[in-house]
Amino acid sequence: MDCLFCKIVAGEIPSAKVYEDEWVYAFKDISPIAPVHYLFIPKEHLSGASAVNEENAAIVGKIFTAIAKVAAQEGLASGYRVITNCGEDAGQTVPHLHFHLLAGTKMGWSSESGV
Ligand code: 5GP
Ligand code: ZN
Repeated sequence: MDCLFCKIVAGEIPSAKVYEDEWVYAFKDISPIAPVHYLFIPKEHLSGASAVNEENAAIVGKIFTAIAKVAAQEGLASGYRVITNCGEDAGQTVPHLHFHLLAGTKMGWSSESGV
């Protein structure tokens, strides 16, 4: 499949890995918008949040478990934000489910950008 993040999982495109287990792969975002900006993705291809269903929903729990582990390891005790963009209006640019982990700065909140 011609999917950027599937290629990253397969090692065909290099990435700066921060976490990996049987189900989840996490790596540094190539163009960070916060001092800590990692992407957590399922190893299995899912196009985005709208593709989550009763059969595959367990992966979301696996991803959030991985996020909590990495946040603890990295000492993000003062807080972090998890975002998934779904579809064009939200600005999803890679059609493989991914969760942004943002931290290391005081974040604002607005309906415009969310950050
Ligand atoms: P989206 O905009 O779909 O929510 O997030 C896609 C993210 O993937 C963006 O933050 C973008 O910087 C990141 N990204 C796109 N291509 C690559 C790549 O080749 N390597 C890495 N590490 N991140 C990428
Ligand atoms: Zn994919």
